[in-house]
Amino acid sequence: MASAFTHGFVGLALGKIFTVRRMPARFWVLSALCGILPDIDSVGHMLGVEYSSLWGHRGLVHSLLFALVAGLLITLAAFNDPPRFSKRWWALAFYFFIVITSHGVLDAMTTGGLGVGFFSPFDTTRYFFPWRPIRVSPIGIASFFSKWGARVIVSELIWVWLPMLVVLGVVMVGRRWGKGKMKDEIGER
Ligand SMILES: [Zn+2]
Repeated sequence: MASAFTHGFVGLALGKIFTVRRMPARFWVLSALCGILPDIDSVGHMLGVEYSSLWGHRGLVHSLLFALVAGLLITLAAFNDPPRFSKRWWALAFYFFIVITSHGVLDAMTTGGLGVGFFSPFDTTRYFFPWRPIRVSPIGIASFFSKWGARVIVSELIWVWLPMLVVLGVVMVGRRWGKGKMKDEIGER
C-alpha cells in the first residue's frame, strides 16, 4: 500500500478534478474513503490470509471488478440525487469506480510487496507498473511512525501529492480561464 493519507488525498483531489458543481459533504467523505477502501483486505492479511491468495492483500479487493461493484453499490446507497440511473448518476458511479481504481494504480507503483491483482478473479496474476517510484508503506500504524514511515511520506509527497497538486492547479486555472472566456463570448460588447 501507499499510505492511507495519500490514498485518501488522491480521492479528494480526483473529486475536485471531476466535479464543478457544489457537492454534499458525503461526496467528499466517500471520495476519501473510496481512495482507501481496497486496503480493508489488510485486515485479512493481519488475520493470516495468504498474501498471494485470491482474498490476500492486493488481490481481488484491489481488482477492477471490485472497484466496479463497490463503486456501483456506494453510489446506489448514498445518492438518489441525481435521480438513480440517470446520466449524471452513472457519471457519479463511474467517478467512484475511478477513485477506487486509483488505489490499485498507486499500489502498482510502489517498491514492495506483491503486485496488484487488477484482473482478479479472471486472471490472478499480480501486476506492477514498470515504473515504481513510490516507497511501499508498512501495513499497520506502529511501523508507520518509524524511519521507514518518514521515508514513505517523503516519497509520496514527491511522487503523488506534488503531481496531483500540479494537475489540480492546471485544472482550476483552466476552468477559471474557460469561465472568463465564456463570459466574454456571452457578455455584451
Ligand atoms: Zn492497497
